[in-house]
Amino acid sequence: MRLRKIKGADETVAASPYVIHPASEGPLPWKKLFANERPLHIEIGTGKGRFLMELAKANPSANYIGIERYTSVLIKAIRKMEAQPLPNLFFLCMDAANLEQYFAPGDVERIYLNFSDPWPKDRHARRRLTSETYLKRYDAVLAPLGQLEFKTDNEALFDFSLESIRASGWKLLGCTRDLHRDTQMNEGNIMTEYEEKFSAQGNPIYKLIAAR
Ligand code: SAM
Repeated sequence: MRLRKIKGADETVAASPYVIHPASEGPLPWKKLFANERPLHIEIGTGKGRFLMELAKANPSANYIGIERYTSVLIKAIRKMEAQPLPNLFFLCMDAANLEQYFAPGDVERIYLNFSDPWPKDRHARRRLTSETYLKRYDAVLAPLGQLEFKTDNEALFDFSLESIRASGWKLLGCTRDLHRDTQMNEGNIMTEYEEKFSAQGNPIYKLIAAR
């Protein structure tokens, strides 16, 4: 993804009350932060935050953390939260490669990946958020019955993801190659910014749900 650096984004993210600023290394005290013990769902690669904001608004009985590595992108999600604060959503500015540093085993009930960067070159395959490398990281933080939900418009990335799920010994709980025409899988679907753009161009949306 081409990224335009926004002036002041680093400072805005560093000062935002909607962003978690870890005081030390080690698992986040997220139960204290949300002041409850409700299940924790995270999105990796939150982008401008629309999906997670709508989801958090519709599901006050869960806690949400949106992870995004670039401040110039996260600032857009922060602006949305400033306009409409939600008590059950925080953002975290970090590279998902560091997931295990901030979440303890069993912390996370659900992980959402939406329109993750495809990293098309073979030599970058391990950077894909559905690679076996990342599935190991998810395995380390997911609750025993935790689930992974992944949406994309990229068929090659989807096929790669199905293969890494199989190779990692995970189970496929749901799978569609045309989400918007699949009444069962599409029920309650919340569109992301990218999903709206790609489906408007006539691209089918692929979705899978997996668990260990
Ligand atoms: N999920 C949004 C959507 O569907 O509209 C944004 C999709 S955009 C193609 C992918 C986003 O994931 C970008 O904002 C990118 O910075 C973020 N991202 C990619 N790899 C990441 C990583 N390893 N850790 C955190 N964020 C990442």
